[in-house]
Amino acid sequence: MSDPQFPEDESTAIRHDMHGRWPAAASLDEFRANLAAVHRRIAAACERAGRPASSVRLLPVSKTKPESSIRLAYAAGCCLLGENKPQEACHKWEATQDLSGLQWSVIGHLQTNKAKLVARFAAEFQALDSLRVAQALERRLQQEGRGLDVFVQVNTSGEASKYGLAPEEVAPFLRQLHAYPALRLRGLMTLAVFSPDPARVRPCFSLLRNLRERLRQDVPAGAQLDELSMGMSGDYEIAIEEGATVVRVGQALFGARALPDSHYWPSPDN
Ligand SMILES: *Cc1c(COP(=O)(O)O)cnc(C)c1O
Repeated sequence: MSDPQFPEDESTAIRHDMHGRWPAAASLDEFRANLAAVHRRIAAACERAGRPASSVRLLPVSKTKPESSIRLAYAAGCCLLGENKPQEACHKWEATQDLSGLQWSVIGHLQTNKAKLVARFAAEFQALDSLRVAQALERRLQQEGRGLDVFVQVNTSGEASKYGLAPEEVAPFLRQLHAYPALRLRGLMTLAVFSPDPARVRPCFSLLRNLRERLRQDVPAGAQLDELSMGMSGDYEIAIEEGATVVRVGQALFGARALPDSHYWPSPDN
């Protein structure tokens, strides 16, 4: 077996087993080195896919990392950061008011009772998966006089442990969204199955792209379905080959998280 850290076939590299081994970013130099490495890999994946490197946006994910890490990322030029828990994101937003222009993307499941928080500080919300949440966000955004870029989360792996609409639910869902004008539809988001096997991961990404292709013709005026947010530290290169326009990368930039991912992804079952 080949070592997945040094894959022979770069295009099918999955690095989930890097768990606990992503290089730390305790200094600005270390963060910059990680950032440069990820940008190089993004560029290489784009080249393999015949896409311009500018067609992929890197969203650094700072969840669980302290304020000092956020300051490193900002110093390295990152001005939109992803967080999966609204409360943690809001605390970080409050603690970094001195960093002008720093914006926040909430990428994790939202309960309606947290819509007020997200409406206050977020620039983007990537995990929209119910009309109840859309309605709660709309009401709070109207009160704040703000709008919010949103991605609809799709469950492309069929796993009960993943949030998101089933693929066949997306078209009817999008037809309801015009009732929530503060939500600016930008695209679709997914988490692939968590597997070291590219043959299982890739179909999740291609499903999202195919769904977007089918739906983008008849999105309502003002809405867009251009963006595909898919891919994280372990699988973003495959996601780019399958058309990702946004990759959400945490550990490859900020260093390994201490606990396994199940700890950070509360599933609908628990
Ligand atoms: C944590 C998280 C990521 C990033 O995962 P890494 O393994 O740190 O790259 C991406 N998307 C979502 C929804 C997440 O919660």
